[in-house]
Formats: sequence, structure tokens, C-alpha cells
Amino acid sequence: MGTEIIIVDDDRLVAEMLATAASIVGFNTHIYTHAIDFLAHDLDRQDIVLLDLSMPGIDGIEVIRTLSANKLPIALVLISGHDRGVLHSAEQLAKAHSLKVIGTLSKPIQIPHLQRILLKQFASFRATKKLYHSCEIALAKPEEVVQAITQEQLLIHYQPVLDMTTCDMVGVEALVRWQHPEQGLIFPDAFIPVAEQNGLMEQLTGYVLGAVLKDRQAWLKEGLALHCSINISADNITSLGLPEQLMALLHKNQCEPSDITLEITESTLMGELVTSLDILTRLRMKGFSLSIDDFGTGYSSLSHLHRIPFTELKIDRGFVMDMVNDEEARAIAKTCIMLGHELDMKVVAEGIESQEIWDILVSYGCDFGQGYHIARPMPADSLLEWSQSR
Ligand code: C2E
Ligand code: MG
Ligand code: MG
Repeated sequence: MGTEIIIVDDDRLVAEMLATAASIVGFNTHIYTHAIDFLAHDLDRQDIVLLDLSMPGIDGIEVIRTLSANKLPIALVLISGHDRGVLHSAEQLAKAHSLKVIGTLSKPIQIPHLQRILLKQFASFRATKKLYHSCEIALAKPEEVVQAITQEQLLIHYQPVLDMTTCDMVGVEALVRWQHPEQGLIFPDAFIPVAEQNGLMEQLTGYVLGAVLKDRQAWLKEGLALHCSINISADNITSLGLPEQLMALLHKNQCEPSDITLEITESTLMGELVTSLDILTRLRMKGFSLSIDDFGTGYSSLSHLHRIPFTELKIDRGFVMDMVNDEEARAIAKTCIMLGHELDMKVVAEGIESQEIWDILVSYGCDFGQGYHIARPMPADSLLEWSQSR
């Protein structure tokens, strides 16, 4: 029996929309508009339950309590029309009951976000062939990802980051791609989650860093000294030897830690905080810059933010892209900028797709910007040309 998506929401329209979103990426679905009927459903351990918190009669919180009693490690996605605080506390409650919360969604629901959560969870269930091929974003197989790394099929594209007051290029973000021999260029969303779930991130990050350092050297020869930002995963900050490994690699490539920013997504930080804190502090002491990526999508508490020595805060591109039409997104972006500055961090906005958004961010005092409006991520040699033609 495969993974089934079970939707529990009293609003039938919403439930049907969720079901459609899940079926587009290859899942079978089942809708319940009454919690009581759902509780009579025979659950399989691979099922994913999308649970609306506010329902008449038995609400989502009561469902969580009942589910915890039957001891199945069901994966839950919590949904709420209330503010994010409600979702956050419900998530904490579910975790306290040993339930696995794989995502939270506030209404109006962002469908691509939901699909990503489902696919990621699905990858961890070890994909069955059939579902693989019906997925819109086909996830790679673990052995293919190993091959991509060992056969050097990964390549790096670079996206310029500009100083928003001077418009100078201050650095680049390195974004990995996979040049598949048959399928062409594959984006990280299709293989990073697979690498993460299969313990391949140490290898992958090592490969990326090596490639970045090589490209950086080549740019230096052409007179272009660029600060490079690299994305790292949760896995990377659980190995205590990481700071020393990085230092050794940098040393071999005549690069200083102050030339490198390590980007860590906000949601990563919710895991094993003690080990991460140890490693992140030592990285900072060695001179690396640390950036908190996709800020606004996780729930890092202000005290975490204060305890971890971040030098940079990156506003999630979702908020930035929505800024033109969405007052709330503007308020969030503005608050992130103020918060970052209060905590002595530089603030970067990614996902700037228009001059209008750029101008609003400048008026809010945002320090750095990147996005399609400035340039798309590109290969190392194109970046050199791009920079020379400015
Ligand atoms: P991220 O670190 O938040 O990277 C920014 C993403 O936003 C990139 O997607 C970039 O192409 C995209 N982007 C930039 N400007 C715009 C814009 O104006 N509009 C839109 N719609 N998108 C924009 P990409 O390259 O697909 O990477 C997705 C994610 O994959 C990254 O998000 C990062 O979390 C992860 N990733 C990429 N490379 C690596 C890597 O080497 N290691 C790890 N651990 N993760 C990586
Ligand atoms: Mg990033
Ligand atoms: Mg980001």
C-alpha cells in the first residue's frame, strides 16, 4: 500500500483544492469534512494527514490528542486560517505528543509549498517507481545522486548580490545544479532533499565548496574578487569536525573565511540546537560569515536568533515576490529589515523581480538585494562577462 494523503477540513472547497494539488504530484487522496469520520479511518503508517485546526465539533487539537493515543508515527501537515502563532503552538503540542509534523500551512494555502512538503516526505518513505514517474517534480533516486556527485555532473550557477545603495556587486550566491546526461539541467529542489535524506550532504557540500573555490580563483585571476555565499544543510552542522574541514579546504585554495558566507535555512535551526550552536559559533570565530536563509518561513524564536552569531538575515523570497500586491508581505519584509538591523545583521532580500520591489526595499533600508530583476543565476564564465559588461 502506498502513501495516501488524507485531508481533514470542514471546508469542502478547500479540501478539494488540497486533494487536487496532491493528486497532481501523484498521490491518492481521501477527504473527510468531519473529524469524527476521520478518526474511524484505518491509518497506514505511510499516510500523510493534512489537518485543519479549526473545525466545528471535534477540532484539530482534539484530533492531535486522539491520534497520539494510537501510537502510529503519522506524518501531519497542520493547516490554519488563524495567525501563525496558533500553528506554531499546535505544532509544539503535536511534537510533544510524539507526532511527526512535516509542515504547517496558513490559509490562503500556497499550493507549491504544500506539494514540496508532500514530495519531500514521500522521498523519505523511499519512493516506489510508479509514483516517481507520475510526479511533476520528479525526485532523483539516491543512487543517481551519488553518481551525480562522483561523476562530477553537478555544476554551480552564481547569482549576483548587489549593494542596494551603490548598486555595486558585492558577492554571489552559489546555487548547485545537476547536468543530467539524459534529462538536462535539474534544479536543486529535485535532488537536495534526496541527498539530505540519504546522508549525502557532507559529500555534496564538499563538492560544491571545492567547485566554488576553483571558480573564485579563476575570477581572481581576471581581477574580480568576489565574496561567495554557499548554502549548507542541517546535516552539515551536525558534524563537529566541519569548521576544521572547511578551513583545510580554504587553505588549499588561498581563500580566507571572511570571503565566505554560509547560508543556513531558518527551519534547519529547529533541530539539534546544541550541536549546531557549538559548530556555528566556532565557524564564526574562525571568521566565516553566517546567514540565516529563508527567514520568515520557520519559527526561530528571537532568543535563538540572538544566541547564534548570525551576521546576515535573508528575507525569504516568498515575501519579497509578493510585496507589490500584498500589504502583509510588505509589513513582514519591513519588520525583518528592522529586526536584522537591531541585531546588528546585514539584511539581504532575494527574489527581487521588479524595479518596483527594489525601490520599496531601498526605502525600507534593505542592505543587499538579489533576484531575476538584477540577474538570474549563471555559470562562472558568464558571471565574469556580466560583471565586466556593467
Ligand atoms: P535559496 O538558498 O533560498 O536560493 C535562492 C533561490 O531563489 C534559488 O533557487 C534562486 O534561483 C531563486 N531566485 C533567485 N532570484 C529569484 C527571483 O527573482 N525570482 C524567483 N522566483 N526565484 C529567484 P534554486 O537555485 O532553485 O535553489 C533552491 C534552493 O535549493 C536554494 O534556496 C537552497 O536552499 C537550495 N540549494 C541550492 N544550492 C544548494 C547547495 O549547494 N547546497 C544546499 N544545501 N542547498 C542548496
Ligand atoms: Mg540561499
Ligand atoms: Mg532563500
